[in-house]
Amino acid sequence: MRFSVLASGSSGNAVYIESDMTKILLDAGISGKQIGLRLKEAAGRSILDLDAVLLTHEHIDHVRGVRQVAKQAQAAPIYATEGTWSQIVDEFRDETAARRWNRVVADTRIVIGDITVTPFTVSHDAEEPVAYRFDCDRQSLAVVTDLGYMTDHIKSVIAGCQSYVLEANHDVDMLRAGRYPWSVKRRILSDKGHLSNTDSAIALADLLGNEEVDVYLAHLSEENNQPDLAELTVSSVLREIRETYLEQVSLHRTSRAAATAFRNLAGV
Ligand SMILES: [Zn+2]
Ligand SMILES: [Zn+2]
Repeated sequence: MRFSVLASGSSGNAVYIESDMTKILLDAGISGKQIGLRLKEAAGRSILDLDAVLLTHEHIDHVRGVRQVAKQAQAAPIYATEGTWSQIVDEFRDETAARRWNRVVADTRIVIGDITVTPFTVSHDAEEPVAYRFDCDRQSLAVVTDLGYMTDHIKSVIAGCQSYVLEANHDVDMLRAGRYPWSVKRRILSDKGHLSNTDSAIALADLLGNEEVDVYLAHLSEENNQPDLAELTVSSVLREIRETYLEQVSLHRTSRAAATAFRNLAGV
């Protein structure tokens, strides 16, 4: 499998994942035009090539471009939970909406071409949010963002992946001191909000065995985080938990403005 994080941050999220025979877009939180441009730039692909579009939940930073993408990728089904679909179905009112929707049920595997996708429930303030693990040919990737905390169940589902796209949304001190109204701060910090840099590192430590992993720090808040700070916090917490973790973990950045380099997952 190969993948590129096309965009990541509180303003828009999309990840492109492909195997030799399957091409999947996970979330469409930037405009259809930007998705098209970044797919081409990062992977040399077009929206027309997509076999499936998967959605995590209905927040605008995950579905902003879904209508445009669906319009271009006519043959690609949209995978979403019933709750997510109920929130976005109006986007599809001018076509046979039912034809486009494939229902996602947490913990029920989906086979798309040669990629097996495992959806799992996340705690987040949306209708029926999920995140996903992708497996193909003993290679695996989990994309886990938009969650207030990481449950033991999630850890058991995503353990053992070679690559993680993992939320490091905010620095708790920046958020507390920042200009957001208290109600918003409380929502972000709640069990249905987002993982802080520290939460992210602690969850990651629980996932690590003895293998080397690539970790893409994702969904950084523009207002309450900085890439340097996220990286520094995650590495210092990891080091504090176990000195050798830093030898195992390669941290990568993601950006709201540009796609990450198209990357091959290492085989096991
Ligand atoms: Zn989000
Ligand atoms: Zn969200």
